[in-house]
Amino acid sequence: MIQAEAILDKMKHQKINYDKVLRKMIRNWENEGVRPSILLHSCCAPCSTYTLEFLSEHADIAIYFANPNIHPKNEYLRRVRVQEQFVSDFNARTGHHVQYIEAPYQPHEFMKMAKSRGLTEEPEGGARCTACFGMRLEMVAEAAVELGYDYFGSAITLSPKKNAQLINEIGLDVQQLYDVKYLPSDFKKNKGYERSIAMCKDYDIFRQCYCGCVFAAQQQGIDFKTINQQAKAFLTQLDSHSV
Ligand code: SF4
Ligand code: SF4
Repeated sequence: MIQAEAILDKMKHQKINYDKVLRKMIRNWENEGVRPSILLHSCCAPCSTYTLEFLSEHADIAIYFANPNIHPKNEYLRRVRVQEQFVSDFNARTGHHVQYIEAPYQPHEFMKMAKSRGLTEEPEGGARCTACFGMRLEMVAEAAVELGYDYFGSAITLSPKKNAQLINEIGLDVQQLYDVKYLPSDFKKNKGYERSIAMCKDYDIFRQCYCGCVFAAQQQGIDFKTINQQAKAFLTQLDSHSV
């Protein structure tokens, strides 16, 4: 099956449009008559909406929720439940069989990484985010090898707030360390982001108000007491409905 490098080598000296790279890979799968399996990182439901709608037509997907960066725990649990619910609703409506897999929640690993590398004061979009993308893409690659997926990738290139060029460069670097291929993407292109907003409304998906880590949230002035209360109330309401 095709590797991204086969296409990227022909695009040297151009600004890479990773959406075009992905579409070329998909054409190659179609020509070969294959439907690959993809382990796709996501950190909450919104980025996975259009991404699943688009990719499920061409491949078998499992969402991999690997996010030790999210703080506090109740907010992490809320994002888990929203993600899981979206996958289930999406499957029910479309007839697809997207799977949902959750990595163990180990926030101390993220804190250790950020503190030991002196990244706690970095602004959002800076070196801490580069390290955070790398950490999570490595988790996905490792799990993809263990579970036998053809590709690993991330839904978060859909977010206009995230640097898709950087995420793809990190993904291609991580690919060198693991025996699994990276799936390049820029899901926000071709009106992917606009479609995700419409799908969030349609599926009634909660949109979080900060990226996830304690450091960026503090810089943004997020009140954790309120976040905790709202997340707890959300979880309690869900549990009372499922009794
Ligand atoms: S990048 Fe932001 S919106 Fe997208 S999945 Fe992660 S937390 Fe959610
Ligand atoms: S702002 Fe988001 S991407 Fe950056 S380090 Fe924090 S959680 Fe990770």
